[in-house]
Amino acid sequence: FRINTTPVSDREGNTNLVVTLLEDITHLKEVDQMKSEFVSMVSHEFRTPLTSMNMGINMLLEENIGEINEEQKELLEVAKEDCEHLNNLVDDLLDLSKIESGEIDLEFDAVAVKKIFEASIQPFMTQAEEQGVDLITEETNGLEVYADFNKITWVITNLIGNALRYTGKGDKIKLLADKKGHKMHISVADTGEGIPKEYRHKIFKKFVRVGDDKDEETGTGLGLAISKEIIEAHGGRIWVESEVGEGSIFTFTLKLPK
Ligand code: ADP
Repeated sequence: FRINTTPVSDREGNTNLVVTLLEDITHLKEVDQMKSEFVSMVSHEFRTPLTSMNMGINMLLEENIGEINEEQKELLEVAKEDCEHLNNLVDDLLDLSKIESGEIDLEFDAVAVKKIFEASIQPFMTQAEEQGVDLITEETNGLEVYADFNKITWVITNLIGNALRYTGKGDKIKLLADKKGHKMHISVADTGEGIPKEYRHKIFKKFVRVGDDKDEETGTGLGLAISKEIIEAHGGRIWVESEVGEGSIFTFTLKLPK
């Protein structure tokens, strides 16, 4: 049941009446479940043909089968990129449907933030250097969180990957951890393009991407939706603060070890 309570005030502003609406949402839940199962099934069905298409294209490109001319090569390169895009989409959809259906078990442990930060930046060191972007982690002073190391590393990796797309030469991407009361605040801050105000809430929804997003090739519009699910499964929240032309700060909260 969905419960909706509305107080009703009289002319003097006194509340004498409260209207409570109970709405049976069993049907909505069933539809939602069917939708998730369908998406998961379709994604699984895409996996095998995509793998063989990818293999075929790679073999043709590597010229093991025979010589190809420049024009043919260009067409194959486009097909390869599209294949990679579809592969990313299938991976993301499967991850999301697993999380949504509660199939993913989180492995909670006390983990050093330093360890998470190191694992998260490692895959991007070369790319950041090539782009002339300064990728740095703030001193974490032995801070620890109670979390699933792999899942949280995935979230930060996704945030850094995004940040690198919207930053260029001379920009900075910084990872920060700040203990506030019983929570740890972890942020990925960039000095890149920023996100227009009207998109700041929407980007955490599935398939939402900002305006003329330049990364149509590899982006799926699912990264932040998955990140939100992962953080909420940890009992935390995720949000963004951003200013167009100045950059973005994505922050999420995690529990501290007991
Ligand atoms: P995608 O696969 O497109 O990156 P995400 O869910 O990760 O999907 O991100 C959604 C959209 O949010 C992106 O397409 C981009 O427009 C915007 N976005 C995310 N991170 C940043 C950032 N650091 N700076 C500017 N825009 C961003």
